[in-house]
Amino acid sequence: MQTVTILGATGSIGCNTLDVISRHPEQYRVFAITGNSQLDLLMEQALKCAPRYVVVADENQYDKACELAKQYRVDAEILCGAQALEDVSSAPEVDSVMAAIVGAAGLLPTLAAVKAGKRVMLANKEALVMSGALFIEAANQSGATILPIDSEHNAIFQCLPHDFQYGNFEASGIRKILLTGSGGPFRERALDTFSSISIDEASTHPNWSMGRKITIDSATMMNKGLEFIEACWLFGAGADDIDVVIHPQSIIHSMVQYIDGSVIAQMGNPDMRTPIAYGLAFPERIEAGVTPLDFADISNFSFQTPCFKRYPNLKLAIDACKEGQCATTRLNAANEVAVERFLLGQIQFCDIAKVNEATLESMPMVKVSSIQQILEQDVLARDKASDIIRGKFLC
Ligand code: NAD
Ligand code: MG
Repeated sequence: MQTVTILGATGSIGCNTLDVISRHPEQYRVFAITGNSQLDLLMEQALKCAPRYVVVADENQYDKACELAKQYRVDAEILCGAQALEDVSSAPEVDSVMAAIVGAAGLLPTLAAVKAGKRVMLANKEALVMSGALFIEAANQSGATILPIDSEHNAIFQCLPHDFQYGNFEASGIRKILLTGSGGPFRERALDTFSSISIDEASTHPNWSMGRKITIDSATMMNKGLEFIEACWLFGAGADDIDVVIHPQSIIHSMVQYIDGSVIAQMGNPDMRTPIAYGLAFPERIEAGVTPLDFADISNFSFQTPCFKRYPNLKLAIDACKEGQCATTRLNAANEVAVERFLLGQIQFCDIAKVNEATLESMPMVKVSSIQQILEQDVLARDKASDIIRGKFLC
């Protein structure tokens, strides 16, 4: 029996995790679920999975959560606040933590699980983008196992040799990691119409159903950029070890190319329950409720190279990856602000990359070597991005 905490249970990854767990009640027990809003959903989830703790991230929602818990007759203890998130991630009773909070808010609770030596199922890519070396170092020190849940990284993980040594591509006979992405909804849209992209258009992904922020990141391909940085840290890759390949059908979730000419790909229907089930059961496999891939149904299977003119955020992220930790932390922060403002209708779609670029360009790089310094850079870059937006960006 594995005891699991689910950070961000009310989100897209959180709901999919609870779905997979509900198929295997004899194998998984839920210790804690957490959420920031959607308290009704959180209580409904608590009724179904009977956790010991329900954590509401926002302290101001505590009274409302307690009230709702009574109404729903939820048995669990209700906790709130940032410390509670860390406590349920690092409690001695917990074996595994699904890190599925979106954005920088996930960093500290995810890191708490890593430091406590848990089996960490990592969906929250922003945590790794923000803290890279420190995150990996903490895992090495505590003995935590990091299992990638992002479908691409989960695919790469499945395609690596079983004796893969972190960062040692040559010894493993690896030539390249081929990181695939659909190219999002604007892969073929005329570039001169980008200024009229609406929130609804950007919020509709052709293949995946996901949370709002990652859906916008997929449309700008910042998501692939964050994944590029994530892959470098997860597998010890250098920027030259990874190629981004557009694969509009999202059937191949990424590949590893070997020096003998072999390419190993992981495939499946685009359904996050596959990587989640793999993370939960590794090294075994469990049923995940995913429709099996039917090759007769796939009429087209295509690939192309991403154009940086169409996806300036992808280039910004690859450049930031080469630049180092300060740049990736700031880029993540600026992007979170820009995406939020786009979703509020305050800036246009193509302003997102402009805000990100201007934020990076206007701040000289500094060395960051502690979580404190990373959090400081996160705040500074958010402030800078907000200032830039206040100065009105137009396409
Ligand atoms: P989502 O928006 O659907 O859910 C986010 C969760 O985080 C919710 O439970 C929300 O309550 C919680 N949350 C939000 N702000 C918070 C805060 N300030 N403090 C504490 N909790 C907070 O997001 P998602 O699509 O499930 O994505 C979650 C993470 O997984 C992201 O980092 C995303 O990049 C990654 N990911 C998602 C998918 C996917 O298919 N959805 C795929 C790969 C990776
Ligand atoms: Mg992904």
